[in-house]
Amino acid sequence: MMSYQEMHQCSISQPAEFWGALAEELHWYRKWDTVLDDSNAPFFRWFVGGETNICYNAVDRHALGPKRGQAALIWESPEADQSRTLTFHELYREVNRLAATLKALGVQKGDRVIIYMPMVPEAIFSMLACARIGAIHSVVFGGFSISSLANRINDAEPTMILTADAGLRKGLPVPLKEIVDESLELATVDTVKHVLVLERGIVKNTMKEGRDLDWQTQVNEHGKPYVEPERMLSTDPLYILYTSGTTGKPKGVVRDTGGYMVALHASMGHIYDVGDGDVYWSTSDIGWVVGHSYIVYAPLLKGVPTIVFEGRPDHPDPGVWWRVIEKYGVTCMFTAPTALRALRKFPEHWMQQSDLSSLKRVFSAGEPLDGPTYDWATAMLGLPVIDHYWQTESGWSMIANSVGIEDLPIKSGSPTFAAMGHHLEVVDIDGNPVPRGEKGLLVDYPPLPPGMLLTLWNDDDRYLKSYWTHFKDKQLYLTGDYAIHDADGYFWLLGRADEVMNVSGHRLGTREIEEVVSSHPAIAEASVIGVRDELRGEAVLVVSVLKAHIVPAEQDKIANEIRQLVRERIGAIATPHGVHFVSTLPKTRSGKIMRRVIRAVYQGDNIGDLSTIEDDATVDMVREAVEIMKGEF
Ligand code: ATP
Ligand code: MG
Repeated sequence: MMSYQEMHQCSISQPAEFWGALAEELHWYRKWDTVLDDSNAPFFRWFVGGETNICYNAVDRHALGPKRGQAALIWESPEADQSRTLTFHELYREVNRLAATLKALGVQKGDRVIIYMPMVPEAIFSMLACARIGAIHSVVFGGFSISSLANRINDAEPTMILTADAGLRKGLPVPLKEIVDESLELATVDTVKHVLVLERGIVKNTMKEGRDLDWQTQVNEHGKPYVEPERMLSTDPLYILYTSGTTGKPKGVVRDTGGYMVALHASMGHIYDVGDGDVYWSTSDIGWVVGHSYIVYAPLLKGVPTIVFEGRPDHPDPGVWWRVIEKYGVTCMFTAPTALRALRKFPEHWMQQSDLSSLKRVFSAGEPLDGPTYDWATAMLGLPVIDHYWQTESGWSMIANSVGIEDLPIKSGSPTFAAMGHHLEVVDIDGNPVPRGEKGLLVDYPPLPPGMLLTLWNDDDRYLKSYWTHFKDKQLYLTGDYAIHDADGYFWLLGRADEVMNVSGHRLGTREIEEVVSSHPAIAEASVIGVRDELRGEAVLVVSVLKAHIVPAEQDKIANEIRQLVRERIGAIATPHGVHFVSTLPKTRSGKIMRRVIRAVYQGDNIGDLSTIEDDATVDMVREAVEIMKGEF
């Protein structure tokens, strides 16, 4: 057995040998000519000349083999009060029927198909059916607003949209079809020929003659038991996924077929330590990159059952997740800090009611896993929560404890070491490495490993500008995050480079102060922002949510304790100028705190373009939080 160090070294010094061997584990119609083509860097291309189909590898390979009768997709919907388990064969059948239907309706290889669906099995059939016939899917989170859907339609120019009458959120309908109708009114392109509508019987909608088609009727009419998978070039785009946009205008991340497939398949062993006999649950949504990779493609490629959950962690009550784990004997769970923090607010009996002994591994990504949340979850689950770091752009983890290779000691608050193929460094503004233990920008040395974005849709220029041209004479992939690489090789994420404060000439990351604030026992959630200050340039402002049992009379005392804590642990320069308590923090739908919005509200600036929050429900939630916050400042 190779150690992590040996294997990682091999992955970056001999990438072609390393990834080439892993690619052999999958099915190719035609083998590649070149493992890595870096002749047009930084546009890296993997398995060039190779032909494959990711749907064949994720579905057919198992359905036509010994796993035919084993569970592939487990749908659990507390929202609809329904559940359904499909074997690999049943999944194969559904995907083929839908693929035949899409073809019959005119969808061709290379066409874009927008999937604007709730978390139902048909959403996963849709992604796989597109992949089967070589159409490029673009899943839009089923909670995004009319204008954000319209923007994506304009950018992706789809020929078809797959949707449902409605999604459900805490029992209330989200009228997806109606939102599609209005988005198409608003969109400036006229490429959409059909809208296929899954009728769930939740809301009534009007069908536009000729354009809108009933899902079930079409599948009954055109469905076939077998559609030959399209032989895709490894470098052909599989999907476009727009980033969540906590910082600016969404970018259409383009993913390839072969490199992504090989990287995801390998990650199931290397990072998640998952194989036969496991039951995998990513609590994300197919609208996010985590959902693409770890609800759909990776578990199915690996041939393990994946749980598709339609609901929230606290509906109908805060015990619902833990019951799912007991019901299906989940062995590996992948969640986000925001969900763990939400659940931490509730009494422990909600968790203790369920038997969680099947769990072997629990992972977290999306934001820093703060110490108090890590401690709480680890104690409650009896397992360490393994933090890992990645981006929509990366498709899979960039920094992780690759426990399937070697279970490295955990340092709470650090996602550990670089993942296979990632050669990460922390550099200064000129791109030169800073000494270990010092803060800097996190970058990835080329070549980028398989699975990383190909480019931005229709915008090679923005790809170069966003990620590659930051340093004058060095070609480094800029993650946009500040980090520390410590003496033991662990990486520590300090927040986004655009969220760094400049207090009297000192550059302070939001993350480290937040970590200190969160460690106070009265704090449920904390955000730290830099606000304008005539004297210091910027001043540190703490905006946090108190735990439910704290009474207002204690607030002044707690604020003083927080100031004291920050002064002791970080230094006087970081002492918060203000400490405010609010009842709710504005967040994106994927749970990321929008510091930009908090800053604007506090400073009385125009909150500006809330549309980048990408979602009506969230826009309303944020407006509400903002209104409440205004009164609380
Ligand atoms: P946009 O790029 O459009 O502004 P976004 O960066 O929020 O949106 P994502 O790609 O979903 O969209 O998020 C990736 C970012 O999330 C990372 O760059 C990092 O800032 C943060 N992140 C993800 N995982 C972790 C983690 N484990 N620890 C710390 N930060 C993390
Ligand atoms: Mg980003």
